[in-house]
Amino acid sequence: MPDYDLTVIGSGPGGYVAAIHGARLGARVAILEQKDTEWGGTCLNWGCIPTKALIHGAEVFQTVRRAAEFGVRVPEPEIDWTAMQARKDGVVEAMRKGVQGLLKANGVEMITAHGRLAAGTRVSADGRELSSGSVLLAPGSVVTLPPVPGVELGLTSDTILGLDHVPESLVVIGGGVVGMEFASVFSLLGTRVTVIEMLDQLLAPLDPDVAGRFQQLMARRGIVFHLGTRLEEVVQADGRVRVRFGGSELQPEQALVATGRRPNTADLGLDQAGVATNGSAIAVDQQLRTNVDGVYAIGDATGVSMLAHTASYQGEIAVTNALGERRVSADYTAIPACIYTDPEIAYVGLSEAQARANGEDVRVGQFPFSALGRAMILGETSGLVKVVADRDGYLLGVTIMGPRATDLIAEAALALNFGITAAELSHVVHAHPTLPEAIAEAALDVDGRAVHVAPRNRPQQATTPTG
Ligand code: FAD
Repeated sequence: MPDYDLTVIGSGPGGYVAAIHGARLGARVAILEQKDTEWGGTCLNWGCIPTKALIHGAEVFQTVRRAAEFGVRVPEPEIDWTAMQARKDGVVEAMRKGVQGLLKANGVEMITAHGRLAAGTRVSADGRELSSGSVLLAPGSVVTLPPVPGVELGLTSDTILGLDHVPESLVVIGGGVVGMEFASVFSLLGTRVTVIEMLDQLLAPLDPDVAGRFQQLMARRGIVFHLGTRLEEVVQADGRVRVRFGGSELQPEQALVATGRRPNTADLGLDQAGVATNGSAIAVDQQLRTNVDGVYAIGDATGVSMLAHTASYQGEIAVTNALGERRVSADYTAIPACIYTDPEIAYVGLSEAQARANGEDVRVGQFPFSALGRAMILGETSGLVKVVADRDGYLLGVTIMGPRATDLIAEAALALNFGITAAELSHVVHAHPTLPEAIAEAALDVDGRAVHVAPRNRPQQATTPTG
């Protein structure tokens, strides 16, 4: 009998969630994490949790600054960066302990060691050999830097979290999700922010219309953008960094290089075990199987979608397949993507542009937060909900920019997951006054029936609400 039914390499939201699912199915599970301080993975220690803790601090600062608008008089607030950092670290620490506690409570054996695949489903844990019925690879991803001279002088998403003060100026290289979240939070905290992005659009593959409106809002707040611009060089200069790009240069206090991450497959024994890769990612099928019998892979290392909840979703599927419960395949149609900027952005399914590029005959409904009671009450009226449906009204995707977009997207994900029409979605009774009413109104607008905006001058044929 092997030492374990399942051995998981990596304790991020892919690995630890998979290990718990395995234990709940009655399996003997071991999980390996190479660094004792990194239980919970990138998400908990360097990604989702610490960044959102800082972002929330900046939101509180903004709310207090705007207090007079709501009839509350307070003295001018100040940022206590040390306390903000301490709170972030406290949240991370508590959650790291929580993950370890959950693994323990489920009887999962936690091993702090670097894992490598040996032959078949044997794993070497810092040299100690473990035999296992199945192996699940969940090693995550690491920061990758572009091949530009001096780029290592910039901060990364890891090192920026340790800054000991809020920089007076920051150049963000990369207008993707990580870059824009840091650009947004530091601009809220008072830093002068400039963003350099190689593409002509921020936050690709976000709906270009929404990306354009977002850029306008950020520019109004003072962020300067250089799109379609390549970074040329970074050099050290007088205790600052000099950033050269598109024939210009800036000398900010700090530069953040946020140009992406790559699967963390170094020293994992893939070659030795004969595990096939797809570029730098571990190649998997819809059931999360690699080409080697009994070896599965999930999360960022598969390069499917570098999101924590995708990793957890894949983890549950891989474990169900590995432990022979039943055969299940992953379906990525309704995976929401959230961007924690101010305002927030979230989307699920296809954007209008993607649906049209797929040859779909699309119908689009929109509703602005400026027309929504709850958004007016909150004083957060920027943004909109955009619902994309096919010619028969079936939902293809939803994009939201505005207050609590990252929470609101759950309803759209549910609707898309169950393959309903925009009419069916609008027919669900939405409480008043709430932010989700904007989703119902945008869904109604697919048929030109939104109530709280003036009728469109290009009417579409209405369909009968069902359900
Ligand atoms: P990881 O979380 O990377 O975990 C892998 C773990 O495996 C690590 O702890 C590593 O030490 C360990 N490991 C690696 N190799 C070995 C080995 N050989 N032996 C033993 N242990 C090993 N996603 C979201 O969904 N929402 C967000 O808001 C969000 N914000 C982010 C913000 C930032 C700044 C960053 C960088 C990422 C963010 N992400 C976010 C992405 C998210 O963090 C990842 O998608 C997620 O962590 C991937 O989970 P994973 O389980 O695949 O790997």
